Amino acid sequence: MVHFVGAGPGAADLITVRGQRLLAEADVIIYAGSLVNPALLEGAKPGCEIYNSAKMTLEEVIEVVRAAERDGKTTVRLHTGDPCLYGAHREQMDRLDLEKIEYDVVPGVSSFCGAAAALRAEYTLPDVSQTVIVTRMAGRTPVPEREEISLLAAHGATMTIFLSAGMLEELRGRLLSGGYREDTPAAIVYKATWPDEKVVRCTVGTLPAAAEENGISKTALILVGGFLGNEYERSKLYDPSFTTGFREAKKG
Ligand code: SAH
Repeated sequence: MVHFVGAGPGAADLITVRGQRLLAEADVIIYAGSLVNPALLEGAKPGCEIYNSAKMTLEEVIEVVRAAERDGKTTVRLHTGDPCLYGAHREQMDRLDLEKIEYDVVPGVSSFCGAAAALRAEYTLPDVSQTVIVTRMAGRTPVPEREEISLLAAHGATMTIFLSAGMLEELRGRLLSGGYREDTPAAIVYKATWPDEKVVRCTVGTLPAAAEENGISKTALILVGGFLGNEYERSKLYDPSFTTGFREAKKG
């Protein structure tokens, strides 16, 4: 049996209770060494075999799983954040399907949630944006042309941009050509929830300079949109004059 587990964004106590239990029970752990907090491995049982997938190919990962299955062992495949985002997760599941190896998936706190916590921000403010775009710049991994940043920026929605902290000049150009303004609020969150977390508030225009001043070029999320500003309408949900399924409007 293989459990794909989301490790959370960094802090070791931000894994789920289920994920932590499975880690403690695992005979084999394959973790994404580039971003998973090694402190999570301290909960492994004695004799657990531990592999760092940052140094492995997909074939090598599958070979480790195959060997574990032959011995009737349980494997945890530990992904950073949540496995459903930029985790090369599907290709592993497809291989396991082919080999008829059973697996399940335990979600984790994605770094874009960790970044909102670090910023004390809400991505979905009434009248500002009710949509969160999760995207990235094309790097060595291509992005479909119809999802090019300027096309997404044209929505003026909240944007959370992964894997792009090393390309901020280009990102800035694309955000501006898509319709954001130089003074649209933006932020860079480096290693959200880790002890060395850094939160840098800036604007779309100053993104590259802000990153450079703070020595940030990787392991960061770029957040863009009016949600980082100070203007919004309060919610209807908690408005005294509004009736909801759970509460009558207050009179007067
Ligand atoms: N599955 C992960 C994303 C993996 S892709 C998730 O759900 O978060 C790796 C990218 O995620 C990094 O380049 C960076 O953009 C972002 N990232 C991962 N952990 C981060 C953290 N703690 N703080 C800021 N960005 C992070």
